[in-house]
Amino acid sequence: MSVYRVFITRKIPITGIDRLRAEGCDVLVRESPEIPTGDELVGCVRGREAILSLLTDPVDSSVIEAGEDLKIIANYAVGYDNIDVAAATERGIIVTNTPGVLTDTTADMAWTLLMATARRVVEADGYTRAGKFKRWEATLLLGSDVYGKTLGVIGLGRIGRAVARRSLGFGMRVLYHSRNRVEPEVEGELGAEYVDLETLLRESDFVSIHTPLTPETGHLIGGRELDMMKSTSYLINTSRGPVVEERALADALASGSIAGAGLDVYEEEPQVYPGLLELDNVVLSPHIGSASVETRSRMSVMAADNIIAAMRGEKPPNIVNPEVLGEN
Ligand code: NAP
Repeated sequence: MSVYRVFITRKIPITGIDRLRAEGCDVLVRESPEIPTGDELVGCVRGREAILSLLTDPVDSSVIEAGEDLKIIANYAVGYDNIDVAAATERGIIVTNTPGVLTDTTADMAWTLLMATARRVVEADGYTRAGKFKRWEATLLLGSDVYGKTLGVIGLGRIGRAVARRSLGFGMRVLYHSRNRVEPEVEGELGAEYVDLETLLRESDFVSIHTPLTPETGHLIGGRELDMMKSTSYLINTSRGPVVEERALADALASGSIAGAGLDVYEEEPQVYPGLLELDNVVLSPHIGSASVETRSRMSVMAADNIIAAMRGEKPPNIVNPEVLGEN
């Protein structure tokens, strides 16, 4: 077995790096905190069997072409919309992701945004710090109840289910819309009712998005869809920014056609649509859905294990293009 030369595009928790080095891999971690450009990656990938990439890194066809020795692209994320998987498959290069280990952490973040928007926590914090808290008031910073309301989950996969599961403690009605209806046992466990997207948008008090970014989900929620939502409802997005049309969302929030939003992801990261920055009824976080010490460490080990499996000639546990190994 020849050991792999691994290029890691930016700093990640040491756990996975230690694992790779313990297997004898020659590991180079790029020092810069900046997102690498495609051109830079083209230079870095030469002479490497493995690249461990972050969700920000454009691993496009030119990078894949340049990686003449490349055997595996191990993404440090569950989403892999930053990688040209078709080009990798064409060249017989394995692509892997890190599913499952970040499910609960990301579901917690969706709920953090949901609660923060419903109960205006960020506004309240600013109010208190500004010294405006002079007395208890009956109508100060009134928000919305969460318990007993209707939650609409778009994309009832791993994270969508974990978000729905948390709503059981809040006595919520759960609607979902997904590409496929899930098994009756899962619907039963979550008390989740399958509906079309329009019904979900019209009836939900909280809409939480959990689809991957694909050609079908780009701008899945735009002006037309936001118009269907109740003026008292909230939109939560921890999936990928381009699933929501940010300009239309800013208009809906400014006009009061929906009550609020909680966003962890943006159409043109790290830019945030300027209209959103001016609004009090949106809570904004910098793509930290999986950002817990424990989870980021688990993701590091998982990405390393995928590389080690490929190096040993084994099937990586989290391969997303099994057809390169002659499987479907
Ligand atoms: P998953 O288990 O694959 O779930 C995705 C769900 O979306 C599946 O139920 C899928 O349905 C559904 N779906 C796909 N295309 C759809 C469409 N066109 N319309 C409606 N539903 C559709 O993935 P996951 O692990 O839950 O992760 C979901 C996404 O969350 C990731 O792809 C990533 O982009 C994002 N994420 C973000 C963060 C963050 O830091 N904010 C962290 C982790 C993940 P089928 O199974 O029927 O195809």
